[in-house]
Amino acid sequence: MQKKVQMMVGPTAIPHRVLKAMNKESISHRSKEYSIVQERVTEGLKKIFGTTQDVLLLTSSGTGAMESVIQNCFSPNDEVVIPVMGNFSEQFALIAEIYGLNVKRVKFELGEAANVDTVMKEVNPGTKAVFVVHNESSTGVFNDLEAFGRALKDTNTLLITDSVSGLGGLEVKMDEWNIDIVLTSSQKSLMAPPGLAFVALSENAWGSVENSKFPKYYFDYKKAKKFNEINQTLTTPAVYTLFAVDEAVKMIMEEGLDNVYSRHRANSKLVIKGIKEAGLKLFAKDERFASPTLTAVYAPRKAKYIVNELAKKSIVVNGGLAPMDEDIFRVGTMGYVSENDVIAFLSAINQIKI
Ligand SMILES: *Cc1c(COP(=O)(O)O)cnc(C)c1O
Repeated sequence: MQKKVQMMVGPTAIPHRVLKAMNKESISHRSKEYSIVQERVTEGLKKIFGTTQDVLLLTSSGTGAMESVIQNCFSPNDEVVIPVMGNFSEQFALIAEIYGLNVKRVKFELGEAANVDTVMKEVNPGTKAVFVVHNESSTGVFNDLEAFGRALKDTNTLLITDSVSGLGGLEVKMDEWNIDIVLTSSQKSLMAPPGLAFVALSENAWGSVENSKFPKYYFDYKKAKKFNEINQTLTTPAVYTLFAVDEAVKMIMEEGLDNVYSRHRANSKLVIKGIKEAGLKLFAKDERFASPTLTAVYAPRKAKYIVNELAKKSIVVNGGLAPMDEDIFRVGTMGYVSENDVIAFLSAINQIKI
């Protein structure tokens, strides 16, 4: 029997320390003991978000956090510009449309990053927000949030980012980069089980919360902020996921944020180099925008076969998302992945007849 090598794109591998941190007696979410943990987690997350703003805690997956942003910061017919370059950016556009926002999609070819100038051509003084996915998990391409922040600085347009598969592995500097909303969830680069989502808002974004006309209860940010002041949540949170995130954030801080980011960069570079040597192609069109948290590998009609062959060798990677599920597989370097894992993956891929 061979030890499993987990290079997944979410949910990701969970370190033993994090698993053990959940092996606790149940506690009340209204207890002092609970509040101490929530405070420690949100303080740690502020550093990873790069913000002095509160980080709100929601019990949901990442998609819930995406929906909550729309419910809390917008009103029907608000105009938003959304660069679409894969499944997750498309999903944000879809949610916005369902709520009756006026969505202007700016489409990029799959495998491309969102070009800032092309997106900015669609932005006008009436544009309420631009939604930029930080790291498009379907294509393995990240966007230059700093450049979007620069382009939108001194405008009234909010910059909103889904960093679900970025934050914790790909640098985010919310305040410095002029980002108004960052959202993420527990089960990707944050090395914890699913169950929690996190969101932080700039002062401008809080201003839009005041004007929002959508009904909301469970995801009401104003309620969440009130409860956050006493380090609690409106309703029962995913307490065990919180225990896990607490330990994971501790691990990230012990390693050091810069070291965490450079490990992700180095591991993904190694993956890219190795798959090319194995005769496979990187799906990202411009390698400078190839994601450090996951590599989408282009293997036309062979992707499922390769994923299965790797599984036989105890290497767990993920398939592609429709409509590219036959042609792409995705290799996570997200979260708890070491250089040794990458070496094991590359050795396995070289043994497969492609
Ligand atoms: C995983 C992911 C999400 C959210 O997925 P959930 O299953 O709802 O947690 C959103 N955006 C991106 C970029 C993702 O990778």
